[in-house]
Amino acid sequence: MHITSDIHLHSNLSSCAKPESTPAALLKACRDQGIRTVGFADHLWDKAMPGASKWYQPQDVEHVLSIKQALVSEECQELSRGLKVLVGCETEFLGGKQVGISREAASLFDFILIPPDHFHMKNYVFPADMTDPEGIKTIMIRRFMEVMALGLATAVVHPFHAMGFTPEMPTLVQSLISDNEYRECFTAAKQARCAIELNSCVARRHDAGTGEDNFSPEYIRMMTIARECGCTFSIGSDAHSPELIIGGVHKRLERFADACGITDILQL
Ligand SMILES: [Zn+2]
Ligand SMILES: [Zn+2]
Repeated sequence: MHITSDIHLHSNLSSCAKPESTPAALLKACRDQGIRTVGFADHLWDKAMPGASKWYQPQDVEHVLSIKQALVSEECQELSRGLKVLVGCETEFLGGKQVGISREAASLFDFILIPPDHFHMKNYVFPADMTDPEGIKTIMIRRFMEVMALGLATAVVHPFHAMGFTPEMPTLVQSLISDNEYRECFTAAKQARCAIELNSCVARRHDAGTGEDNFSPEYIRMMTIARECGCTFSIGSDAHSPELIIGGVHKRLERFADACGITDILQL
């Protein structure tokens, strides 16, 4: 499969991105890698919604949309020639109906990414005292289904990736999720017309992996089931600097998609 889109790029408007992650630098890196649809998705919490953390407070709608000013510069216009450039956002989800964007604000963006499991944000997204893999799994599945019920997400990003624990935790939690549990989740995603993101985390080398690429067998199982459920996939390097893109992450994602038989990529 040939990847020509990436709709999960963090410019330096995101507080966690590197200073060199300018819109121009990301555009150039994507362009050089043959990416034709480039989607910016900075972290966002809309002021109209209650519950912004201190970290999210400055990263509001106005802030994230200010990228449009950079994108009309001569340099960016030149780099954008022949590309489709989109402005989306990665908002936040705290469970239940607590999401970081209002429907009004959502209409201002080309696409909305929702992360169901930013569990590294302790005592905000996730209780700090919960470290038991079964407990994490239960909350993870519930949050995924709740995101689908919102009907707001263009794509659910880095699904079933337990952030903020030990390096082994994501695989451990995934190994506890049965094929049927995945099927229920991905069928809901298909019905909600929410794409499943192939995030760069799926393409990382894994100790238990096989073949030249050493992809995680758990990620192959997860995404193969999502494909069997008829899901559409979005591509997200989740780059916070141009480095990851220049390093060839999209080529690895292509090989991962091939390993899962994935061909259906979201077209925006
Ligand atoms: Zn994220
Ligand atoms: Zn992100």
